[in-house]
Amino acid sequence: MNIASDPKSLLSAEANLAAAHATATGILTVDLDAIVANWRKLEKNAVPAECAGVVKANAYGCGAEQVARALANAGCKTFFVATIDEAKVVRSAVPASAAIYVLDGYFQNSGEAYARIDCRPVIGDLNELAEWDVFCRRAGWNGGAAIHIDTGMNRLGLTIAEAQAIIPRINAGDHGITLVMSHLASAELLNNPANARQLAAFREIASEFSGVPAALANSSGIFLGPQFQFDLVRPGAALYGVNPTPEADNPMQAVVELKARIVQIRNVERGETVGYGGTWTARRPTRLAIVAAGYADGYFRAASANDGSRGAEVVVAGKRCPIAGRISMDLMAVDVTDLDKNAARRGHLVTLIGEGITVDELAHHFGTIGYEVLTSLGRRFARVYKGGEARVELSAPATGEIPAAAASAPVAATPPPVPAEAAPAAATPPPVPPETASTDKA
Ligand SMILES: *Cc1c(COP(=O)(O)O)cnc(C)c1O
Repeated sequence: MNIASDPKSLLSAEANLAAAHATATGILTVDLDAIVANWRKLEKNAVPAECAGVVKANAYGCGAEQVARALANAGCKTFFVATIDEAKVVRSAVPASAAIYVLDGYFQNSGEAYARIDCRPVIGDLNELAEWDVFCRRAGWNGGAAIHIDTGMNRLGLTIAEAQAIIPRINAGDHGITLVMSHLASAELLNNPANARQLAAFREIASEFSGVPAALANSSGIFLGPQFQFDLVRPGAALYGVNPTPEADNPMQAVVELKARIVQIRNVERGETVGYGGTWTARRPTRLAIVAAGYADGYFRAASANDGSRGAEVVVAGKRCPIAGRISMDLMAVDVTDLDKNAARRGHLVTLIGEGITVDELAHHFGTIGYEVLTSLGRRFARVYKGGEARVELSAPATGEIPAAAASAPVAATPPPVPAEAAPAAATPPPVPPETASTDKA
């Protein structure tokens, strides 16, 4: 079907999209160029600190492989994920020289996996550090690790006293620690005194890790000022368009657009109710568009409308329309009575995110934060990538490479064209130990 790419097509961009994804009930568009532009903006803000990319949770739902590759192409040299499985995906997408940190850290018998894909645990406990050391010694591995120090969040990390206990090791050299970091608990609140407290605590302990790059700031932390930026910053949410400064206008570009298909248009009489529980009553003869997206797609039930309160809104044919009744698992009803009679039709796409509806607005209706909106967006949607990786992908088949094969490769199989300077945090990548290395059972 050539409709989508035919420049002479008389169909609108929207209709082209609908036609190109004929079987999709929803289409999630991720703008990789916007992600790269956001990264560049954060990088500029943080200079001379290095700007990493946090791509955990499938890059906040946006696609870890595509996002990591686009960021690597833009010059990003350090990546953070939550799990080793996530690291595997990122490793297949970025140059071998890129550093990948795993935030959930080291646990028994995970050493070989770390070595095989050359990623680094973020270590937040002295026992964990001891076990990692045992693995490294036995396997002859020297791939590096981060030390996470808790400065007030009380989630992961060594206490300050524990961190002090390993200073002699740092001073002795050859310590295998490539990054010292902490995490802010309230960075999005500019005037929260916890930020200054955490900064002071981290500054003091980090200064004792001489020669080890330090990192404190997440997305919002970058906007707390240069003193929070240290040697490396770790933005996640802001890359994906979530507002890192919720008390002010969003400095980031929107990244995600979500459209879903109208599967039926129906009319209801005044006084009839709509949806489960009959919680929404038509106050006039009402035309409804039944849209194929629901809470199983990550469109939270909390955005439902009832007789007492309005829910979220949806853009239909360019106009905002209110949701009617409860969000179901797979469907929602939208009141399109105020549109021209034929403006909304079966098969058309409506906009759930985009055309002025932001991830943060939706988060407000969902009773949550933009992070959870993004990471919840479901797998039933077709995914379309704009920019960055999209161009690479188009040319990939011609080279005869099979991208999927890279996923199980020991190290990055297809380094994209990125200048291979050593990252500040990177130690020289040592050779990968034999895959048969005995398991570490410290
Ligand atoms: C998730 C995470 C980040 C990124 O946070 P954002 O608020 O999304 O920028 C940075 N550091 C750590 C330790 C994290 O867990």
